[in-house]
Amino acid sequence: MTKQDGEGWGVNTRLAHTGHSPRDYFGFVNPPVVHASTVLFPDAATMAGRNQKYTYGTRGTPTTDALASAIDALEGSAGTIIVPSGLAAVTVPLLAFLAAGDHVLIVDSVYRPTRIFADTMLRRLGVEVEYYDPRVGAGIASLMKPNTSVVFTESPASNTFEMQDIPAISAAAHAGGAIVMMDNTWATPLFFKPLDFGVDISIHAATKYPAGHSDVLLGAVSANQATWDRLHEAFLTLGCCAGPDDVYQVLRGLRTMGVRLDHHQKSALAIARWLEGEAGVARVLHPALESFPGHAIWKRDFSGSSGIFSIVLAGGGERQAHAFLDALKIFGLGYSWGGYESLAVQVFLGDRVIAKGPYEGPVIRLQIGLEDIDDLKADISTGLSAARAA
Ligand SMILES: *Cc1c(COP(=O)(O)O)cnc(C)c1O
Repeated sequence: MTKQDGEGWGVNTRLAHTGHSPRDYFGFVNPPVVHASTVLFPDAATMAGRNQKYTYGTRGTPTTDALASAIDALEGSAGTIIVPSGLAAVTVPLLAFLAAGDHVLIVDSVYRPTRIFADTMLRRLGVEVEYYDPRVGAGIASLMKPNTSVVFTESPASNTFEMQDIPAISAAAHAGGAIVMMDNTWATPLFFKPLDFGVDISIHAATKYPAGHSDVLLGAVSANQATWDRLHEAFLTLGCCAGPDDVYQVLRGLRTMGVRLDHHQKSALAIARWLEGEAGVARVLHPALESFPGHAIWKRDFSGSSGIFSIVLAGGGERQAHAFLDALKIFGLGYSWGGYESLAVQVFLGDRVIAKGPYEGPVIRLQIGLEDIDDLKADISTGLSAARAA
């Protein structure tokens, strides 16, 4: 066994050693950050045949290869493309596999910018867009049409965390001749490996846990053997390659992702359990809680939970939600998540057609960072008191 394949290794060993073989570059532990457009050829015949490993910066470099192969090792994929943002990791595969006249099924609780892309650009390109209930399971078979070419999943759901039955959905989608894409950003390949559950294409906002420091935007899309060539061709055709410094930062982040996630997981779960008994909280939406409706699916398929979940305030509206948010001192008010610092945001569900509640009050999403739990609890308590007083 070579260091590169890492078969049989535990996940933290693989995170530490996959993606780059130090002997490939003078023994340096980390790969070089290759800044490149032009790649030179030794002679005209090699150039005419493009007969060497690297040919132009948009098509890949040793830096992008290092990250892509590290992610392949985690996902069990045939190939991975690296794109400039998590949103590009959603749009590129959809553009790769959809054409005018096709029908796409997208989970209604999807990451909102994915929905905006589908409702604007996909519809304009002549794709029939339909949203389905995240709890549909095998029932998705009845929504399949002869022209359904893609079923797009995200589990747990953005913001409200409904769990999808990925094996059942994948089986029905394949029976109907569609391929299955999954936005797996919440779990990372450490807690869920989509390709082992029937998904064809696994999507990640590497901006989140892989990068881990709220300072880099990046996306990754990993394909099985059947879908890799078409995904890769679309990536080359669209020219949406990522900058080498960002790619390097994400490879650097991957090395510590296991230990960071371990901490995020423990803190988030401890705080979620505590919040279940706090005054002013109607419900806690966290798939690893026994009280959560999708808990059985999470337990069956996932091997861990990450650091983001939501709470539903017991009544009230925007005034209470704003009072909660404005009272927070440690939690920042901001989008995104997966970084070392805690964040809070009021969830908007206004454009959903199915998975929109009812909820007892405002839904507030919490990203639990790496701070000390007692400090975070005290901060949330202050917020809850402010909401009750509002
Ligand atoms: C953040 C996020 C994205 C987009 O990532 P960006 O790098 O911010 O564009 C996609 N999907 C999910 C589920 C996300 O949370």
